[in-house]
Amino acid sequence: MGAMRAPLLVLAALALAAGRFLGAAEADPPRQEPSVEAVRMTPDFWMLVGQGGNLGLLVTDEGLLLVDSQFQRMAPAIRERLDELGDGRELKVLVNTHVHGDHVGGNPGFAAEAVIVAHDAVYARMVEPPPGREAPPAAGRPDLTFPDRVTLRFGGHEVEVLHVGPAHTDGDAVLFFHDLKVVHMGDLLFAGTFPFIDPGSGGDVRGYLEAMRRVRSRLGDDWKVVPGHGPASTVADLDASIAMMEATMAIVEERIARGMDDAAVVAAGLPDEWASWSWRFVPTERWLETLVRGLRDG
Ligand SMILES: [Zn+2]
Repeated sequence: MGAMRAPLLVLAALALAAGRFLGAAEADPPRQEPSVEAVRMTPDFWMLVGQGGNLGLLVTDEGLLLVDSQFQRMAPAIRERLDELGDGRELKVLVNTHVHGDHVGGNPGFAAEAVIVAHDAVYARMVEPPPGREAPPAAGRPDLTFPDRVTLRFGGHEVEVLHVGPAHTDGDAVLFFHDLKVVHMGDLLFAGTFPFIDPGSGGDVRGYLEAMRRVRSRLGDDWKVVPGHGPASTVADLDASIAMMEATMAIVEERIARGMDDAAVVAAGLPDEWASWSWRFVPTERWLETLVRGLRDG
């Protein structure tokens, strides 16, 4: 048994090492000139794609509401886009979907003008990060935190910010722009790829699926979906991710029930139909590792 555990420990060590530069690691493409591309989802709502988690931007007469801030080095390029798309309107509110560095790293660049909103756990983890992870600058900490949900009435819109999980982390927030039929899911959706789930920040495999289902149950089929990572999505894309989670979880649960040890579960791989979900940061092996550890302990 001891020998069988060894490969898992190696994998765990690798995961820990990856976690150390999380934010960096999660979705940091090779360093390139910071640039931010805008995808228009409704007349007033944009998905902004740069490096790190996808941003959401709501433009109103009252000012701008931004979802997430990517990395500190991205702040000037994000600012340029805000000025252009917002026609000089001021940024008033910045909502963080969770604590990872590729979602909150740019906060200090906007802290002077925007009220920063996040779940309670995001603040707690920014003040006291997990061992081995760097505390982000104090200037970027949330001004306003909430335990379950908060509704922002802003520029004629109602924006519901709902805590779900523990899922990707323990501080995940999903934003429902009800009148626009747009949802920003943060890292509750990695569109078309295996998701990253971060137990080191309170994440939970079963909770992740539950959270996806909970969000899905609140959406009509015609909603537009901003994933934390991946292209602008539809509810059908969310359904496909939920189906992938259910199917791959069932495979791993069945292997566990048959008495396979963790290393064997990972070594057995996944059927070809899931091959296209494998990607640089969460290849099939890492996904199986995430599942077997999360499901065996759960
Ligand atoms: Zn994340």
